[in-house]
Parts: sequence; structure tokens; C-alpha cells
Amino acid sequence: MRIFISADMEGATGIVNPEQVRHGSGEYYFGRKMQAHDVMAVVQACLDMGAEEIIVNDAHGRMINLDIESMPRSVHLISGFPKILEMVEGVEESDGVFFVAYHAMAGTEKAVLDHTFSDSCVHDLTLNGWRIGETGLNAFLCGALGKPVAMVTGDVAVCLEARSLLGETLVTCPIKEGRGRSSAELLHPDITAELLRAATEEALNIIDKKSAPIFRLSPPYEVSVTFNYTVQCDAASVVPGSERCSGRMLRSAWSDPMDVYRWVVSVVEIASTVRW
Ligand SMILES: [Zn+2]
Repeated sequence: MRIFISADMEGATGIVNPEQVRHGSGEYYFGRKMQAHDVMAVVQACLDMGAEEIIVNDAHGRMINLDIESMPRSVHLISGFPKILEMVEGVEESDGVFFVAYHAMAGTEKAVLDHTFSDSCVHDLTLNGWRIGETGLNAFLCGALGKPVAMVTGDVAVCLEARSLLGETLVTCPIKEGRGRSSAELLHPDITAELLRAATEEALNIIDKKSAPIFRLSPPYEVSVTFNYTVQCDAASVVPGSERCSGRMLRSAWSDPMDVYRWVVSVVEIASTVRW
């Protein structure tokens, strides 16, 4: 079995504050350490369960957080940015997908570091009427490529979000509970390692039984982004296919899931470059 792990950071054990996930900050060493902790717990469980290949895609920030030196020799680490499929680069070669250390979409209550692709510009993202965040859009892309998402780990909020989108067969592993955006009730890393291990075993089983959920939506795909500021929408509206709906909202319609992804990535990247 070939497992693909998309590894973010905000949803890792112990992390509650933006400084812990921001490169250059004095607290960033802690974010890297805890992202690696959660990823390694999952990787080790996969190896112990006999997975033949594990691809880990570093999916946070500059995407150079994880250290290949500390990984088992059999792991393929996809490191760096930019890459065409961003958070799910490398998924094509896998039998099943895990989202590790993920966070809830922008606007979620009691969710550690909730945001959608950008801290500064996305207020809301919808796809065919669904409000989605990074979990939703990445799962959509995986689904379009025929890949099941078997497990999501992070705080309680992202686990609820993922389950509401992907259904009851999805394995979730909540390892902390947000009290607010920058506060949470935590568990000791030894305990979360055990929880992650047990969840990984369950997730490998549902991939094996072919009962892991594949998130598919029918075309045409109507996607919208509402930005925090009008100037962000001004900047992003140059992206082909964009229709301005209001001061802060762009809409677009596509028949190819890859175009949906490209459009969202493009408008967010451009909107992130302007000051408000
Ligand atoms: Zn992140």
C-alpha cells in the first residue's frame, strides 16, 4: 500500500499561537518539532503496519519545515514551494491520503489558527454551494484524481469540518480542542502519539477495505472567494475566468477540477500581494 501524507503545521500537537508556525519567529522551532512529532507518529504506524511506500508532502508555509535527515530511509519527502498541486503534490502515486496537522477553515469558532490558504485575505470560499477550507479543496482535488482521503488529524474543529464533508467513514484524530483561535486544551505528546498511531491503523484498514471516502462533486463547478478587503478583490479580479459579484467577492465556473484549484490558488496568491 502506498500512503500519501499532506502535512500542515497548525493542527499539530501543542501548537496554539501564530508565532509557533511562522518562520523567523523565536517560537518557530516548536512548530517544526511538533509537526515532525505528529508526522513521525503516523509514518511509524504506517511502516509497522506494512505500508510499502510513504510519500510525505510538507504543506505548510514555505514547505521546508520537515527535515529529511530525521525521517526513516523509506520515506519520500516532497519539500519546497512552489509546486503545481501545492498541499497535495505527489498524491497521484498513492492508494490513500492522510491530512495531518490540518486546521479548520477561516471563520470557524474555537478553531486553532483557523484560515483558508492565507492568513490575510480569504474570508470565505465556496464550491458548488459548500463552504470549504483547505481540507475541502484538497479533498476535492484528491477525489478528482480518484484518491480516497482516509484520515484527518488536527484540532476538534477541523475533525468535525472534515467529517461533515467526507462522511462518517472518515477516520479523524482530534489531538487538541480549541478554546479560541490562539488557545487550546492540549494533550501530552506521548498521548497524542498513541492516538495518532491508533487512528492510522484504522485508516489503513479502511483503505484496505476500500471504504475510505472519495470526495466527488459533479461539474460544472461554481467556485467563489470572498476576500477580507475590496483591494484584494480588485487585485485578484485580473485572473482569467473571474467575475466580480460584489466589492469583496469573485466567482468563477469551470468544468475541470484542476482549473478550480488553479483559479483559487491564483486569486489567493495575487490578493496576498496587496496592502490594504
Ligand atoms: Zn499551515
